[in-house]
Amino acid sequence: MTSWFASDLHLDLATPDIAGRFLRFLAGPVRGARSLFLLGDLFEAWLGDDDPEPAHREVIAALAEVARDGTLVYVMHGNRDFLIGERFCAESGAILLDDPAIVSIQGEPVLLSHGDGLCVDDHSYQRLRALVRDDGLRSGFARLPLDARRRLATEARAGSREHLASAVEYITDVNQAAVETLLRESGVSLMIHGHTHRPAVHRFKSDGTSRTRIVLGAWHDDAMVLRWDSAGRNLMPCPC
Ligand code: MN
Repeated sequence: MTSWFASDLHLDLATPDIAGRFLRFLAGPVRGARSLFLLGDLFEAWLGDDDPEPAHREVIAALAEVARDGTLVYVMHGNRDFLIGERFCAESGAILLDDPAIVSIQGEPVLLSHGDGLCVDDHSYQRLRALVRDDGLRSGFARLPLDARRRLATEARAGSREHLASAVEYITDVNQAAVETLLRESGVSLMIHGHTHRPAVHRFKSDGTSRTRIVLGAWHDDAMVLRWDSAGRNLMPCPC
């Protein structure tokens, strides 16, 4: 049985070609798979599960079809769509995963994360991350009218772009020590994450154990996804 892993689609009304590619991916390669893991930033912005945006409704309907077909669909919050909630899950048939989560694929334990929590060298980002994860702030945001939420999300994205443009390359990547600590504490040798938009398979040794970190790609670049079946793992461009 096949499992698929993808992240950082950043679905946005401005890039309908990416949504089209994702819908083809769901209707084609994903059909009949055991599971589909979406490891954060499925959406460029998620204003709340009550957003009636038709393009988002189309994605939800397509996920629901995959889930109805018997594929286990998992979603994890990214830093862009952390307001995905219960209603989204009920409508899409998706199961929300904690970050990090440990699952078993082909009998092997694997740690899944969006990955932003490991970018600990980026101090200003980590301060922001702690702030937006505050429950009070989130429920306050959710109570605002959609227009106000949309305005705030646009401002936040402009701030993020400015920060990324000025930040040094290494501070926006994961910190190797943070990766090793997380794997050691979890007792897992393999992790899969997204967020950094630097798709790769990293093999390294820590605590005398061989470990692997697989990074998924962003869909506005090369759309690198992971296919994992009984024949092994393959990090590859989305096959559609
Ligand atoms: Mn991200």
